[in-house]
Amino acid sequence: MASGDAQGNDVGNDISDEIRSWLGDNWDPDLSVRDWWQRMADAGWQFPTWPEGLGGRGLSATDGRIVAAEVVEAGALGPPFSLGQVMGAPVVLQQGSDEQRNRLVPPLAAGLESWCQFFSEPEAGSDLAGLRTTAERDGDEWVINGQKVWTSAARVASRGMLVARSNWDVPKHRGLSYFIIDVDQPGIEIRPLKQMNGQAHFNEVFFTDARVSDADLIGGEGQGWAAAVATLAFERSGLSNRVAGQVVGLPGEKAGVLDRRAGDVVAEPADTGLGSRAFRSWSEIAELADERGRGDDAALRQELMAMRALGKVAAWSAQRARAAARAGESPGSAANVAKLMGSHIGRAAQHLGPRSLGADGMLAGTDAPADGQVTDMVLSVPSSSIAGGSDEIQRNIIGERGLGLPKDVSVDREIPFRDVPRSGGGTG
Ligand SMILES: Cc1cc2nc3c(=O)[nH]c(=O)nc-3n(C[C@H](O)[C@H](O)[C@H](O)COP(=O)(O)OP(=O)(O)OC[C@H]3O[C@@H](n4cnc5c(N)ncnc54)[C@H](O)[C@@H]3O)c2cc1C
Repeated sequence: MASGDAQGNDVGNDISDEIRSWLGDNWDPDLSVRDWWQRMADAGWQFPTWPEGLGGRGLSATDGRIVAAEVVEAGALGPPFSLGQVMGAPVVLQQGSDEQRNRLVPPLAAGLESWCQFFSEPEAGSDLAGLRTTAERDGDEWVINGQKVWTSAARVASRGMLVARSNWDVPKHRGLSYFIIDVDQPGIEIRPLKQMNGQAHFNEVFFTDARVSDADLIGGEGQGWAAAVATLAFERSGLSNRVAGQVVGLPGEKAGVLDRRAGDVVAEPADTGLGSRAFRSWSEIAELADERGRGDDAALRQELMAMRALGKVAAWSAQRARAAARAGESPGSAANVAKLMGSHIGRAAQHLGPRSLGADGMLAGTDAPADGQVTDMVLSVPSSSIAGGSDEIQRNIIGERGLGLPKDVSVDREIPFRDVPRSGGGTG
């Protein structure tokens, strides 16, 4: 569908024309969010890179970005955004059966569901393969026992991507299975955790004889590590590829957005639960500094330009990864570099936002300058260098996979997980 330029790159003029004309005929701010998202999904514009009939049109990533930018340009409401749309659907599309794709993907495409991610545990975060939540087969079902933590948005999710240990007698990476589990059941208890930005976006989640059908096992028993790694790769690229204006807060029946007027929701800042996304770019902070009469401060200007340079490097790295993907080459550790750059940019914003406000930078709350969003940003930024794999882990991956450096010494990779010593003593 896209036309090519002299170098054979997609330039997407046809796609731009097609989506523009479709939006002209179809975007109606008076529709409910539910009806608008369904209309977008039925037409294949909601997630253009997904397959036809499942909310997409099988377009290339480049064309997908063109469509997303046109939706923003038209002032229309963007697609639903939860971990289900960012990572769940892509993993089911890649590793699920046809039956699973046809059953699990359409509700995500239409924004009828929000999913969460049941990966991290109190003793398994960076070392995810060391997790201890257990899955035991019981006929056509699996019984789940254990605890997860830092589960974002679990209280508005209808399903979760769960990695659990189904075999303790093989090395740690080989005994894991990956399920899509219903959240609303008696065996799952969700307890919110209060954050320093005042929100309670995270949860700890306890599984006590929770049940999941064998039909919701993705990729087969013992294949959970491959699905988990794919999920994390989609998380890194999905979160860093986000187009401004695309995020509309959490979808799904429990989040309360579906029956609102689409035109009202598009005008609101997105509530992703992670704190304000505002004041994370150099231009927003520069504008703030100007407004507060600090635009001529030479030291501040110099640091703002350094922040701008970081942003440019991140954008060029992303461009290089896309060019590699277009040429059929592996993008290497580009998604890890992009995530690391995001952390650097966040920290620069955290430092420069309050400096632009001077002493007022210490104020919090909605009556503080910029509605308190600078302080909210300052308190929310630390999470971005931990979520989805910490900065240190990104550096390890870049070193090992990107630069070919030797791997960390590991003493527990090849022994049965049951025999791996636990911190605090004991095994199993
Ligand atoms: C905003 C946010 C949202 C999140 N959402 C979810 C979610 O929805 N679902 C979910 O399952 N989890 C979620 N998490 C959890 C997140 O994935 C983990 O916090 C992260 O993987 C780190 O694990 P940990 O907290 O156990 O830290 P640890 O793994 O205990 O790490 C502690 C410190 O040691 C360092 N470290 C650990 N291992 C190494 C190593 N090999 N080399 C060098 N340094 C190392 C780490 O970088 C870190 O600084 C979220 C976290 C945040 C902040």
